[in-house]
Amino acid sequence: MDLAINLTYILSAALFIFGLKMLASPRTARMGNLVSAVGMLIAVVMTLMNRGILDFKWIALGLTAGSLIGVFAARLIAMTAMPEMVAIFNGFGGIASLLVGWSVYHRAPGIELFLVISILLSVLIGGVTFTGSLVAFGKLNGVIGSKPVLYRGQHIVNSLVLIGIVTLAVLFGLQPAGGYLFFLLLVAMSLVFGVLFVIPIGGADMPVVISLLNSFSGLAACAAGFVIENNLLIVAGALVGASGIILTNIMCKAMNRSLKNVLFSGFGAADTSGSGELTGEVKPISPEDAFLILEAASSVVVVPGYGLAVAQAQHVVKELADLLEANGAEVRYAIHPVAGRMPGHMNVLLAEANVPYDQLAEMDDINKTMETVDVCLVIGANDVVNPAAREDENSPIYGMPIVNADYARTVFVLKRSMASGFSGISNPLFFKENTRMLFGDAKASIQALIGEFKGL
Ligand code: NDP
Repeated sequence: MDLAINLTYILSAALFIFGLKMLASPRTARMGNLVSAVGMLIAVVMTLMNRGILDFKWIALGLTAGSLIGVFAARLIAMTAMPEMVAIFNGFGGIASLLVGWSVYHRAPGIELFLVISILLSVLIGGVTFTGSLVAFGKLNGVIGSKPVLYRGQHIVNSLVLIGIVTLAVLFGLQPAGGYLFFLLLVAMSLVFGVLFVIPIGGADMPVVISLLNSFSGLAACAAGFVIENNLLIVAGALVGASGIILTNIMCKAMNRSLKNVLFSGFGAADTSGSGELTGEVKPISPEDAFLILEAASSVVVVPGYGLAVAQAQHVVKELADLLEANGAEVRYAIHPVAGRMPGHMNVLLAEANVPYDQLAEMDDINKTMETVDVCLVIGANDVVNPAAREDENSPIYGMPIVNADYARTVFVLKRSMASGFSGISNPLFFKENTRMLFGDAKASIQALIGEFKGL
């Protein structure tokens, strides 16, 4: 039986790895999800068959409850709320690992050192992941203010809590059998530390935090795998841990910031408008006038951003692009790696509207050709097209790679007001000579443009 189990686990692990690989491209992502899910199903069935001691009533109950929550969440949650959903699911992963560690200790407190370390890791990392994810969830959906919570002596308080955790862990490790009180204190302190860890980080940085917490939830699961001696949980946890940290790194690079800066700088707490005086005037344009320029354009680049998701304008954008193409224009979409509120946000939205993948261009590729573009349509994007990142050395986003929308011959910015983006930084693009502001909800503005094209 052991051989059969291990062979099945190897198969499952291979399916996870292939699934992960397929997630790297929008073309294969759905299939990748399915492949990984099949891997997990095989693993779960095999594990249950092996451990005949389990009470299947509870498992059936858990499966039904989990599936129902999963189906409802997938159906009901709007695309804009996807990062929150990922945050809360990470949190569930963390608390699950914590409970696994706790239950094993509870059943047999007289444990040897290896198990002590595994339990401590699954409980501590799981606890931090749980409350950290709840705070991230709250910040993203507005229950908690998105500004970083900063106070005097914060680093000292955090360091003291950490030192407390390490000290208690050592005391617990020396005598686990009689250390239930220490254990409970450790659980409580890990939960407190999760909150302390995330509150000083601003809402704009939450996707990075979520990706990091995702990595933590994997590490906690990996530790839980050692606790219950399940090889596949160790492998799956390690995969989640590693992919989460790789994603965190990619996001930090795309914002030209270090992880340390994201976690400890309190980005977004102060007024961060940079030093540059914004000169120039804002020139609003009507859909009728914008249409006249678009009608004459032979190349158009769409830069989608978070506002596109808010307005749910992906389908009308595709419709407008079709009309532009029918009119003889070449249409491409410039995808910034951190446009929106989660990695791949724009790809997913545009895929939902059946935008052909070959029209999506990466930032670096599109930037090479931006000067030859007739019209750049910036739809609900702000920070990712902010030229201050190139021009203003004092700007907090100086050095962040951006889509050079301002290099196009004409730029239309579709947004509702002059409000700043998530980072709270004002945007000189809106004041440039070649920029026209098409104010209003992105979907309504695009519908108005479509109406013009159709002669309505
Ligand atoms: P921004 O948050 O910079 O700007 C979005 C703009 O959309 C706002 O200025 C808003 O202006 C506009 N908007 C909102 N609703 C609508 C609507 N209904 N119709 C039209 N416009 C609307 O988004 P970007 O995508 O440009 O930038 C993403 C930001 O998130 C960056 O700061 C990035 O660093 C950060 N971030 C992203 C991560 C990721 O993984 N994607 C990770 C970490 C951070 P108005 O209110 O005037 O309409």
